[in-house]
Amino acid sequence: MKILVCISHVPDTTAKINFTAGGAALDPNGVQFVINPYDEFGLTKALHLKEKHGGQVTVITFGDATVEATLRKALAIGADDAVRLDGVPTDPMQVAGELAAYAKDQGFDLIICGQESIDYNGGIVPGALAALMNLPFVNACIGLEVDGSNAQLLREIDGGKEQISAALPIVIGGKKGLVEESELRIPNMRGIMTARTKPLAVTPLSGSAALTAASGFTKPAAKAAVQLIDSSNLDELVRRLHEEAKVI
Ligand SMILES: Cc1cc2nc3c(=O)[nH]c(=O)nc-3n(C[C@H](O)[C@H](O)[C@H](O)COP(=O)(O)OP(=O)(O)OC[C@H]3O[C@@H](n4cnc5c(N)ncnc54)[C@H](O)[C@@H]3O)c2cc1C
Repeated sequence: MKILVCISHVPDTTAKINFTAGGAALDPNGVQFVINPYDEFGLTKALHLKEKHGGQVTVITFGDATVEATLRKALAIGADDAVRLDGVPTDPMQVAGELAAYAKDQGFDLIICGQESIDYNGGIVPGALAALMNLPFVNACIGLEVDGSNAQLLREIDGGKEQISAALPIVIGGKKGLVEESELRIPNMRGIMTARTKPLAVTPLSGSAALTAASGFTKPAAKAAVQLIDSSNLDELVRRLHEEAKVI
């Protein structure tokens, strides 16, 4: 079974985010980058499926050389090989186009994406990739089992769960539930050493166009400082909740 896991290289959730002068772009200085959490669930699921059914797990990222540390981490966790599509992505349709151009002739049975990336939060790449490859797509997957040439999927819907079956090949957008947090793998020393010798191919872009261009970024307004009110002064508490916070 050939599985492709699409990995987005994102700032760690605890990173302090700043933008370059004028808010033109993310300032990567001092930011620790990690595997997008949704993709980590997908990668772990892919490794479970490989252990059960045999096969190969390839990880892929569209990004410049700075994303290679993230791909090496995926290799240390257990992926067999990695591909870096060499460029700087600026738009989800461009990312989907490049992933599709790479994957179309590779015979993958399953393409696992995250439901969304936690940096730009587009939630567009997986569906667009499936459409460009003319493959079925199931988003918000919280369960996935493969039975011969069919996939049994469980997806989260508002107030419930939906069971879906589909013939492989398929593209999914996954999230927590594909595996549990306790099942995520931390690279051990052996994995880190082996990852150094696993193949990481750098592939030129096919020329997919970006259809949008971000013209600027702004941070949310800073949160107001906490106000402490003496417990004997309930009238003042009520006044502030009414006049300032406007919640009563
Ligand atoms: C080095 C670098 C520089 C960037 N610079 C800019 C910039 O200057 N301006 C700007 O607007 N954006 C920039 N981006 C972000 C880029 O535009 C996004 O990767 C793209 O728009 C998809 O983000 P999204 O939030 O729409 O993805 P979503 O659709 O939310 O992602 C869902 C899933 O798609 C897959 N996926 C997403 N992105 C990738 C990827 N790159 N490679 C492989 N799989 C992927 C993952 O499985 C992910 O979980 C940069 C990204 C990188 C890595």
